[in-house]
Amino acid sequence: MPFVDYLRISLIDRCHYRCTYCVPADGVEPASPLPELLTHGELVTLVRDVFVPLGFRKFRLTGGEPLLRADTVDIVRSLAALPGVQDLALTTNGDRLAPLAEPLYQAGLRRLNISLDSLNPDTFQKITGRDRWQRVWNGILAAAAVGFAPLKLNVVVIPGINDQEVPALAALTLDRPWHVRFIEFMPIGNETLFGEKGWVDSATLRQQLQDQFGLEPATCQGNGPADVFRLRDAQGTVGFISQMSECFCDRCNRLRLSADGWLRPCLLNEVGQQNLKTWLRGGADPILLQATVAQLLQDKTNIHFKDRERGGDRYTRTMARIGG
Ligand code: SAM
Repeated sequence: MPFVDYLRISLIDRCHYRCTYCVPADGVEPASPLPELLTHGELVTLVRDVFVPLGFRKFRLTGGEPLLRADTVDIVRSLAALPGVQDLALTTNGDRLAPLAEPLYQAGLRRLNISLDSLNPDTFQKITGRDRWQRVWNGILAAAAVGFAPLKLNVVVIPGINDQEVPALAALTLDRPWHVRFIEFMPIGNETLFGEKGWVDSATLRQQLQDQFGLEPATCQGNGPADVFRLRDAQGTVGFISQMSECFCDRCNRLRLSADGWLRPCLLNEVGQQNLKTWLRGGADPILLQATVAQLLQDKTNIHFKDRERGGDRYTRTMARIGG
């Protein structure tokens, strides 16, 4: 396993979109009451006094929808200024991005991932439950104009819903320096939809793009588990995240911190998680918290996503609640 130096931080477990792959068929889970969320000050303490001393250098803010939090720009400013924080990124649905792109950039953010599952406003509405395609597109254009690079677009590919749009989404990279990532649909969140539709494996999409455009291997900053390529003569890149068809546990360099303070060693497994907020609010010394995280890092090597089956009822959260 590589050195674990990447923490994904969920700022909030609420989201005002209802993405069909994320929201369970029987409705959205109740979000944490606001006092349960880690505060701006607690997040800074954890990053500065616990994670950076343990060698963490890369941080991503996510949710839920991180731009729903009123203090997100302030949190970005504080974290970006911390010595040791080398890479700070944020994942958003883009809905509130247009007016916030400039303040986020000024606060020190340089990397953004935006979910955009369709170029068709009707399909977008079908997937997200919101008639907001133009608003998100405006947010993407605002972020590009401000200078975010690489600007990444996340696409969850669902058979019969948006899989036919993969070539058009990939073609966005032909004359823009953007990075479009195709993510295999996982049975986490809406398992009913997953049961009905299934998923498309990255190899099929890659072949399709190879046949239509020609593909060459490429790299992209912060590509993580993505396999990255460039369409022939394209300015940007395309990536494939293949967590269903491929196991990349041996490349996993990350931990996840939920908005309510649970640190988990693996996306698909809640075994071994620790609630850092309880320790923090109980007045625990950062050194003790470092020891707790170090122990969890040691245990991570032994926690494989396939153990999820054995985790049984401990597997209780959607991506919105874990932090996607
Ligand atoms: N609200 C932000 C957004 O929309 O990007 C951040 C949170 S969202 C949970 C983060 C990512 O989780 C999305 O880009 C989506 O790709 C991913 N996601 C959620 N449920 C998923 C599922 N069942 N399969 C694959 N990806 C999923």
